[in-house]
Amino acid sequence: MRRFLKALCILPSLLLASPAVAQTTASRIDAHIETAKVAAGLDWRNTFVNLCLPATPLPPNFPPPTPAVAPDPAGWYAPPLKVFDNLYWLGTRQHSSWALQTSEGLIIIDTNFHWATDPEIVSGLLTLGLNPRDIKYVLISHAHGDHDQGAATLQSRYGARIVMGAPDWEDTLRRPADAPGGVPRRDISVGRDGMNLTLGDTTVRIVPTPGHTPGTLSYVFPVKNGSATLMAAYSGGTIMRGFGADPARWDEYIASQRRIARAAADANATVMLSNHSEFDGAYTRARLIPAARQLGEDHPFIVGRESVQRYFTVMTECAMAAKLRATAPQR
Ligand SMILES: [Zn+2]
Repeated sequence: MRRFLKALCILPSLLLASPAVAQTTASRIDAHIETAKVAAGLDWRNTFVNLCLPATPLPPNFPPPTPAVAPDPAGWYAPPLKVFDNLYWLGTRQHSSWALQTSEGLIIIDTNFHWATDPEIVSGLLTLGLNPRDIKYVLISHAHGDHDQGAATLQSRYGARIVMGAPDWEDTLRRPADAPGGVPRRDISVGRDGMNLTLGDTTVRIVPTPGHTPGTLSYVFPVKNGSATLMAAYSGGTIMRGFGADPARWDEYIASQRRIARAAADANATVMLSNHSEFDGAYTRARLIPAARQLGEDHPFIVGRESVQRYFTVMTECAMAAKLRATAPQR
């Protein structure tokens, strides 16, 4: 009996190490990658490549600290561009910041590194004929330096209200006072149920999508294109590297993708935006708008309801593949 029990105890570890299980895991990973690849098509190719193909090992201090001195602008600066009648792109070549214009002022979505605040956001608004003093809210998709280092400046200089997920506020407020870009004062905190933020004629649906960080937020909001009003989905946390072997972290990220995909579908979102211009090609797409108009082509950001859903399929399937890589036994 004792020998039988002992055999039972070692059976699971034998199963886990068996080539059959390893092969099953490998083929399941392949299946998720194939599904993501088909979903990506040409629309979301960069997102697919960056999320689905095995990444190089992370440096131990990921995310890396922000350099104290701004890097050479030749490597990141991009001019501001009008994308829709009420939406302006104020990003760098790597990261997006957006200005959503309402009847009562501006909502800034993500703020980039601190060195981009003045050249991209403040000067960008002025170049486009907008007034930075009209910034009423700053929505931070998540508390990483490449998206939030302008928040303290916009809060103290223009009195803008800062909106962040509750757990990311806690992380932010633990920063030292001399953190790059400064530390914003605690302001509007978004809990697990999300919220609607209304400014004048515009309402932004804020959807918590924890995973990339515990307080990551995504959004659904209206954009105007001539006489048409369309709905845009904004993905707030993209990269999933460094999640480790705890399945719960992966499952949270995957559940979040499904939640924002559903919110996008419910709102009939046909425009897809994110916070990483290097992934979603925001800079290139924005530059193509006049050419597309001239050629009678569709607006480059209006990808259609089905493509918006495919974006989230890429996110979900790549996360499922990465979860298996990180958590399942393989050879
Ligand atoms: Zn991040």
